[in-house]
Amino acid sequence: MKYIGAHVSASGGVENAIKNAKDIGATAFALFTKNQRQWLAPALTAEQIALFRTMMSEAGYEAGQVLPHDSYLINLGHPEQEGLQKSRESFFEEMRRCELLGLDRLNFHPGSHLKKISEEESLDRIAESINMALERTSGVMAVIENTAGQGSNLGFKFEHLAYIIDRVEDKSRVGVCLDTCHSFAAGYDLRTKEALDATFAEFERIVGFKYLKGMHLNDAMKPLGSRVDRHAPLGDGEIGWECFRYIMSDERFDNIPLILETPDEERWAQEIAQLKSFANL
Ligand SMILES: [Zn+2]
Ligand SMILES: [Zn+2]
Repeated sequence: MKYIGAHVSASGGVENAIKNAKDIGATAFALFTKNQRQWLAPALTAEQIALFRTMMSEAGYEAGQVLPHDSYLINLGHPEQEGLQKSRESFFEEMRRCELLGLDRLNFHPGSHLKKISEEESLDRIAESINMALERTSGVMAVIENTAGQGSNLGFKFEHLAYIIDRVEDKSRVGVCLDTCHSFAAGYDLRTKEALDATFAEFERIVGFKYLKGMHLNDAMKPLGSRVDRHAPLGDGEIGWECFRYIMSDERFDNIPLILETPDEERWAQEIAQLKSFANL
């Protein structure tokens, strides 16, 4: 089954994301479980948790159709102790929120070396940070998103993802999310069937589809290999429709949340309908 949706607003309360997803015909959704631009958030109350869980089952969404995204402030590969500590604590809090809400995965950007330590040292810290969070929580998977490689952000090569996974102790609780815009900006071509076959064969060889726990479906404003992260509406960017048609008709992308992060929310319902038709839904 293809689960298709968008990163919807949870403003006014996490449960609002469920309604916002339903309204656009989504069978999957992403959300921030707290304000993504702040370190601290008030703890979820028992009432909020109960309401979220009830609304989830009423709307017919299961945990595997939801891909929460963590705060942009978190850097699990931070070169300095203070920033690293703060990031680790905040990441643990986010994992804990997912656990309380009955969700089973948390999507995050791996981290940045900020040009102060080597790539390898930063990747080691990321893996260690994941191990620490997994030890203190249960039932929630750490889902590493590939990046465009802007600035000193790591995770723009499949090898980075594999390096981290290799160092995570509990392999059953680590996964990856491929963002099509990020992949393309990082130099992985997705424009033709041949290019898609080659890119995903490389992904299978280096990381493995068994670790694929979500996708972000975005077109790209900037050319192949630009290392610039600018999302475009589907079909309006440099990638084009072929990529999304391909993903929708390939069973390697079944049973995971497929999430739009395209810039024009007015078009989400239409984009979802288009993707569903590619998947014969
Ligand atoms: Zn992201
Ligand atoms: Zn993304």
